[in-house]
Amino acid sequence: MDLRSYIRDVPDFPKPGILFKDITPLLADPSAYAYAVAKLAAHYATRPVDAIAAAEARGFLFAAPMALELRKPLIPLRKPGKLPFQTHSYKYDLEYGSAELQVHIDAIAPHAQVLLVDDVLATGGTMAAACKLVEQAGGKVAGCAFLLELTHLQGRERLAGYDCFSLIQC
Ligand code: AMP
Repeated sequence: MDLRSYIRDVPDFPKPGILFKDITPLLADPSAYAYAVAKLAAHYATRPVDAIAAAEARGFLFAAPMALELRKPLIPLRKPGKLPFQTHSYKYDLEYGSAELQVHIDAIAPHAQVLLVDDVLATGGTMAAACKLVEQAGGKVAGCAFLLELTHLQGRERLAGYDCFSLIQC
């Protein structure tokens, strides 16, 4: 199945000069969505993974079905003020301003191998922050999985030292 045909290019969103990769056509096709999740999950079926984590919001769309398929715990990484219990927190810089991700203090067992998932790898800044948060919380990064990788942005270089896998490269 050619998953590329289920990704819609939207020019100048959310601002001029950005070519946004819209995954909603993939989500709207259960066969394509199931195929993508199965392919991503299959890549990790024989690798050491104790839990699957993702940053809100689109990461959840792939991490949740992968966690069910691999029968692993799902760990949400959230923006400040969303998680009800005590949290670990990691602040990181964006192009303009800063952002923060949080995880519950009891979500990650010591030394647990955590697979991180997102829809798109662009500059890698979000995933790098997610990796740091997992490590701060006592876990290890088992890998970083993406539906789609924008290779020209060289996000992989930002994630040097982590094992990265993407189903589609553009
Ligand atoms: P990154 O630059 O890798 O930190 O990307 C930040 C987040 O924004 C990722 O989680 C992606 O889901 C999303 N993103 C960044 N660039 C794009 C793009 N061109 N199309 C769709 N989503 C994007």
